Amino acid sequence: EAKRQGRNTLRFFHPSMETEVTYRTEIETELRAALQHAQFVLHYQGQVDGDGILTGAEALVRWQHPTRGLIGPGGFIGIAETSGLIVPLGRWVLRTACQQLALWAATPATAHFTLAVNVSVRQFLQADFVEETLAIVRESGIDPTRLKLELTETLMIEGVEETIGKMRALREHGICFSLDDFGTGYSSLSYLKRLPLDQLKIDQSFVRDVLDDPNDASIARSVVALGKSLGLSIIAEGVETEAQRTFLAGIGCDHWQGYLFSRPVDARTLEELAA
Ligand code: C2E
Ligand code: MG
Ligand code: MG
Ligand code: MG
Repeated sequence: EAKRQGRNTLRFFHPSMETEVTYRTEIETELRAALQHAQFVLHYQGQVDGDGILTGAEALVRWQHPTRGLIGPGGFIGIAETSGLIVPLGRWVLRTACQQLALWAATPATAHFTLAVNVSVRQFLQADFVEETLAIVRESGIDPTRLKLELTETLMIEGVEETIGKMRALREHGICFSLDDFGTGYSSLSYLKRLPLDQLKIDQSFVRDVLDDPNDASIARSVVALGKSLGLSIIAEGVETEAQRTFLAGIGCDHWQGYLFSRPVDARTLEELAA
């Protein structure tokens, strides 16, 4: 009887929900296998300064799925986070990014490059995150001041004291920090001023309509003013047009990233852009 009940309740389950659940379950299983079979790859998107000089890149992970094709992070990072697989995946990303940075450091055209790496909240809050990151930096032989970790505002809700402590510990070794997607999350200004940051990254949702939407323009202006008053560098993401770039430079944004310069590309292609 209970079984019948159970079967009946399934009828009220919307088909798209079922598909979503199936997808998540499949992806989670496949992610485990993907970690063992080296199916991930990093693409790199250039970061450019006010003089148009390529100063480095942001590493963005992709999954070369054997049957589904190349999957962007939107298709699996969320599932990796809830399943905990983000921890080994994030470790792979950091190690691979540091190895790439070491190669760039050894080549004249790219010797000045910095590399930004996204770190998810769950990964950052692992008890051994600091030790592990320092071990990866040491093994790769990179100059730690060239490594920039991108964190998000969510960390401020999850544990401010722990976050500040870990950032300080890593910063003592020269590692830099950028606050990603700034303005989209929980922005408590009192916490923000306590975070030992180097850079604020204006979220692309404000950049997109910065020329047409006065509210977005105001937000962009405020973010730049706030960041500058805290002594931070300001980078805009998602810059697609020359007009957006000009506007952002005009309000004091000192670095930018976006399709206007380059889409995320493989390491070789980015090197060609530096030559
Ligand atoms: P994000 O860190 O904010 O990265 C910027 C995203 O904007 C990237 O999407 C990039 O391809 C896209 N983008 C860059 N320039 C433009 C532009 O001019 N126009 C538009 N429309 N989009 C642009 P992607 O590669 O799909 O990554 C999405 C998100 O996935 C990232 O957002 C980041 O939060 C996350 N992610 C990517 N790689 C990693 C990783 O290795 N670890 C973790 N934890 N998260 C990652
Ligand atoms: Mg990022
Ligand atoms: Mg971002
Ligand atoms: Mg973003």
